[in-house]
Order: sequence, then C-alpha cells, then structure tokens
Amino acid sequence: MLEGQDLVLEEIVPARQGWAHRVGYGETLVITDLEGRQAVDFLCFDTDDLRDRYSATNTIKVQGNVYVGLGTVLYADSGRALMTVVEDTIGRHDTIYGCCSNPNNRLRYGVETTESCYSNFEAVLAPFGLGREAIVANVNWFMSVPILQDGSAGVAEAALKPGSRVALRTERDVLAALSNCPQMHNPCNGYNPTPILVQVYRATRDDTSLAR
Ligand SMILES: [Zn+2]
Repeated sequence: MLEGQDLVLEEIVPARQGWAHRVGYGETLVITDLEGRQAVDFLCFDTDDLRDRYSATNTIKVQGNVYVGLGTVLYADSGRALMTVVEDTIGRHDTIYGCCSNPNNRLRYGVETTESCYSNFEAVLAPFGLGREAIVANVNWFMSVPILQDGSAGVAEAALKPGSRVALRTERDVLAALSNCPQMHNPCNGYNPTPILVQVYRATRDDTSLAR
C-alpha cells in the first residue's frame, strides 16, 4: 500500500519465472520478496525508444557508488532518467554482477542449466521486439555482492526477511522487465527460488484541486 496512490496492477510472479510490463510516467512499481532471500534481476527501457535501455555504468558514475539503494536514479544509455528508487527496505542492491545465464553457470559452476535469468529476459522481452542486444548488466534487487578492498567480489549469503521491498517511481514511460531468479548454484535465492509480488500504483487524482 502506498499512501495517496491507487493500486492499478498486482501480480504474483511464480518462482523461476520472468515478467515484463509497461509502467507509465508517474506510476510506481513495487517489487516485494514474499518469502525472503529471493534475488530479482531487473532491466528497464524507455518506451519512446526501446533501444534506450538501463545503463549500469551511467547509474554508478552519476551517483559515485556501485550499489543501488534509496534515492538511486536508474539512468539510460542516453542519460535520461528512467526510474528512481523511492522506497527500499534493504539498503543495498547489486548492479555489477549481471544475470545468471547458461554460459556463466557453465564457467562458474561447471554445470549445464536449462533455466536462467538470461533466458527469462529473452522470453519476456521478445513480445516487445527486443532480443539479446537488450540484455545488459542489470539491477539485482535483494542480491548481496560485497566488494572487498582487493577487488574480490562474489554473491554473499544474505538473510533477507520476507516482505522486503523496493518501490521505483517512473521518470518517464518505461518497459520494466524482471526475472525471478532460478539460480541454484549460489546463495542468492537461499537455494530455494520463491514467488515475488509486483504492484503498480498511480497517484490518486485530486479533483478538489481543479479550478471551479
Ligand atoms: Zn538469475
């Protein structure tokens, strides 16, 4: 529930599945980790030009920090602001590690997998005419990737509580795409992928402010 806003869309995204939807300017997308310890891989695009996509490097450079959290503006390649984090019960999310894929599961864990965030992104972006070129370094909501002083990094165990959530206000009309991560070879999902909740809110129209 967001104060002063109407719920316009509410969907459960089952474990291991992807989801994509247009979210209009001024609306707010809320992603809730229902059972805890569930990484959610996320991309967004400008619907005026879907080739203009989320840029992790622009986002990192503008804020001068490698983590995403409350107040982070998600920028596109063009430098346009796509979305802003307006609520965050966690405080720190990754945007350098990208999504899991069959190739990186093979390289990292020596396993052949059939499901991955990469293939989820391919599936949910295809109806919007987007292919592999659209899949870039994404935001990993609810995923902890600490970077040590010597530059080592890795996916860390994070005891995230059920009900953890982030809210993202759109700064223009966007296409939001996410993968409810199916990864079973590192602790990003607590080795137990679970459903998440997505909601879209729109500011309640205040008719009392209209001129009489
Ligand atoms: Zn994944």
